[in-house]
Amino acid sequence: MRFDVLTLFPEMFTGFFSSSIMKRAIAKGLITASAINFRDYTTDKHRTVDDTPYGGGGGMVLKPEPLFQAVEDLKRDQTESPRVLMMSPQGEPFTQHKAEELSTASQLIMLCGHYEGFDERVREHLVDEEISLGDYVLTGGELPAMVMIDSISRLLPGVLGNESSADEDSFSTGLLEYPQYTRPADFRGLKIPDVLLSGHHRQIEEWRRHESLRRTFHRRPDLLETADLTKADRAFLAKLLEEEPS
Ligand code: SAM
Repeated sequence: MRFDVLTLFPEMFTGFFSSSIMKRAIAKGLITASAINFRDYTTDKHRTVDDTPYGGGGGMVLKPEPLFQAVEDLKRDQTESPRVLMMSPQGEPFTQHKAEELSTASQLIMLCGHYEGFDERVREHLVDEEISLGDYVLTGGELPAMVMIDSISRLLPGVLGNESSADEDSFSTGLLEYPQYTRPADFRGLKIPDVLLSGHHRQIEEWRRHESLRRTFHRRPDLLETADLTKADRAFLAKLLEEEPS
């Protein structure tokens, strides 16, 4: 999968692309990632990327020309059409489900705004989708782009090593993940649940499912409305409602 990020601050991606799982995925050729300065697509002497808003008011607006040039350049010679995403607080909220959907694309072009954001014609005529990281305003789209690249990449086959798996992560199952423990089994008198030492795989699976349901019930009951629940899950939740009303 290929990620092309259009940004005025490509240096922000240097550490991100050269660390940890991203570094390994790039080295293995599982993903290609580049941060491209769209200032390089300006044609005037001052390399201008922004201008004052029509109608007055404070702040600067990103001009359409360099962004159109950059995206058209990236799309040239591509057999499959890349998806063009705009980082925007006004966009569709980013979720695990959205990460899963985007992980099936072969190429994503991600536009990072700054200042007051983009000229509206970029939104209307250049991008396929606008994505928001949440209901807050950041100074730029670089952090949202990194968050998205991280969460999409870890879903691609081979990116996570055997030591970790995305299958049971929170949200992938529609629920929050169960609690995890590692050695020692007794830390300052704080003991791990006996069942995890029992060696009974079926019982461990059942305990994990119950704890996952319990966590979701207490912390994110909204997720239970859309989670794929069995009859046994529903019976467990009914019992919880009686014993531990939230
Ligand atoms: N004036 C814009 C508005 O009110 O919608 C906000 C512009 S913001 C200061 C600058 C840039 O940061 C945006 O163009 C976008 O690329 C990025 N950005 C800020 N908050 C974001 C969020 N919650 N999700 C995604 N991108 C965001």
